[in-house]
Amino acid sequence: MQLERYAGKTVLALGAHPDDVELGIGGTLARLRRAGARVVLAVVSVPGDYAVRRREAERAADILGAELRVLIDAAGKRIEDFRHCDLVALVDREVKDLAPAALLSHGRAEFHHDHVMVHEAALAAQRLRYFDFFTYQPNFCRPVPVAFQARAFVDISETIETKMRAIEAHASQFSQRGIATDIFRDMSRLAGRLVGVQYAEGLDVGRLLL
Ligand SMILES: [Zn+2]
Repeated sequence: MQLERYAGKTVLALGAHPDDVELGIGGTLARLRRAGARVVLAVVSVPGDYAVRRREAERAADILGAELRVLIDAAGKRIEDFRHCDLVALVDREVKDLAPAALLSHGRAEFHHDHVMVHEAALAAQRLRYFDFFTYQPNFCRPVPVAFQARAFVDISETIETKMRAIEAHASQFSQRGIATDIFRDMSRLAGRLVGVQYAEGLDVGRLLL
């Protein structure tokens, strides 16, 4: 399967917070953009310093060639303040508006509860229309063990530097806290080794029309 299947179509990348999508699928999104897809990066909520983190998210989206959308566009609102049905409505709104050919979201193995809540809202959106559905590697600032099985891989050898720049755009989460980002390069390297390319990102497949 080639990413060109999404050329001229919209791909929706959904993440709970700024930086989640960049960590999980930054290289994939940059490749999708290069392949001619319209890439929408939807962040559900912006915790912490809203102005700073929103600016970082905008810069990261720019680097990836994606359009940023913030679904809960208000400071101080957390995902766990919302009921499941309200989160479903937020994701539904984007799916109805964008009619994506693919949706990439958090998976079930996430250890942050609010990430799991976003995964469940994305699952529910599948009832609205057909789109290819993928979930990405659970992410973290500091590594922890997770039960994630990648079943599809995207070769990001040509976009690894773009991914790293998009991650580093979130300075308040990494450089300003003294947290190194090189582990994300290492993880892409390891995923690449599994499939015989230099760098890759792993995806789990929710549903896929061939
Ligand atoms: Zn998060």
